[in-house]
Amino acid sequence: MGFPLFEAFPTLGDRFPRVELADLPSPVSRVSELDAEAGGAEVWVKDDGRIGELYGGNKVRKLEFLLGRALRSKVPQVITFGAAGSNHALATALYARSVGLGAISMLIRQENAAYVRKNLLGQLAAGAALYHYETKAGLFFGTFFRMNLEMVKTGRYPQIIPVGGSSPLGCAGFVNAAFELKNQVEAGALPCPDRIYVACGSMGTATGLAVGLAACGLDTRIVAVRVTPDSMVSTSKLKNLFERVAALCKQWDVDFPPVRFSEDRIQIHHGFYGEGYGVFTPEGMDAVEKLDAAAGIRLEGTYTGKTLAALLADCAEAKPASRPVLFWNTANQQDLAPLIQNLDYKKLPKNLHAYFTSPIQDG
Ligand SMILES: *Cc1c(COP(=O)(O)O)cnc(C)c1O
Repeated sequence: MGFPLFEAFPTLGDRFPRVELADLPSPVSRVSELDAEAGGAEVWVKDDGRIGELYGGNKVRKLEFLLGRALRSKVPQVITFGAAGSNHALATALYARSVGLGAISMLIRQENAAYVRKNLLGQLAAGAALYHYETKAGLFFGTFFRMNLEMVKTGRYPQIIPVGGSSPLGCAGFVNAAFELKNQVEAGALPCPDRIYVACGSMGTATGLAVGLAACGLDTRIVAVRVTPDSMVSTSKLKNLFERVAALCKQWDVDFPPVRFSEDRIQIHHGFYGEGYGVFTPEGMDAVEKLDAAAGIRLEGTYTGKTLAALLADCAEAKPASRPVLFWNTANQQDLAPLIQNLDYKKLPKNLHAYFTSPIQDG
C-alpha cells in the first residue's frame, strides 16, 4: 500500500523528506476477550508493534521523516535524547545505522527495569555512542560540549532529533497514521472508533494523530494518557505542538486543510501516571497481563500498560456502554534477544553499569 497522507496531498509527498522504514499499514484487530472488562464496549487494537523489522513501535513512523531529513542534509550522524532506557534512543540508533548514519544517545537517569538493560545493550549493538547524565543541567552542558566536539571532528554538527522524535516533522508520521486508520475504517476493517487511547510521553504520537484526524475528517476523539511529568505534557503544550504540525503541513502544501485544535477532540488523561515516569503501577501491569492473555500482544509498564489500564477503567464506568474504542499499541513487539545475546554490559560507559548491578522493578 502507498502512503495515504501523500496520496491525499501529493505536494507533501514531493516535499517531505521520507526514508521508508515502516511496513504499513499496521494491522487492526478485534479483542473481544476484553469487552467484559470494558463494560461491554467493543475493544479494538491497532498494533504498531511490528511495523519495523529491526524494532517496532511508534518511533518508526517518526524516524521515517527525521532520518529522511538527516539524509537530505547529508550529515554524518544524528544526536538524540531520552531516559536511560529510552525506546526512542534505541529505535534511532538501529534505524540510523540501517540508513548509514551514526547515532549519539544523550541519556538521563531513570528508574531501573529489565527493559532499560535491554535497550542499553541494543544501542551498544547498533554502534551508537552513549552518554549518561545524572541531572538535566549535566545533560544540557554535555550536549553543548558534544555538539561542538563532533563539529570539530567531522566538520558538521550532528542533526538534532528531539526527545521522543516529537518535532513537527516527526509528528507528520502520525498525521499519516490517521489517514491510514481512515482507510481501514472505509475498507470495513473496523468500525469508526469513538475514541483512540494512546500513550502520551513527548506528545508527538497523540498530536500527529489529532492533526491527521482533523485533516481527514474521521469522527474519532483521542484520549492521550499521560505517562511523563506534567511539566512535559499539558493542554497548552499540546495545542502549541498541534499548531506547529498543522502549520508545517500547510506550509508545504497549501491544499492541506485549515485544522484547529479542539479540547473536544483530544483530551489528556492524567489519572494513570502513578508515582513517576517509568515507575510501574499495579493497574498498568495488570493491563499488560490482560492483553498478553487476550491477544498475545506484550505491553510494557512505562507507557502502554498505563494506557490500556486507563481505557479499561474508563469504559468499565461508562453508562450506557462505550461505543467502539481503539487501543493504539505503541510498544515494540520484535524480539531483541538475538541482537543483544552475546553483549557484555561492561562495554558500555562506566556510569551506565549501575543499571546492570542494581535491582530492577518487577515486570
Ligand atoms: C515513546 C513511546 C510512547 C510515547 O510517544 P510520544 O509520541 O513520545 O508521546 C508511547 N509508547 C511507547 C512504547 C514509547 O516508546
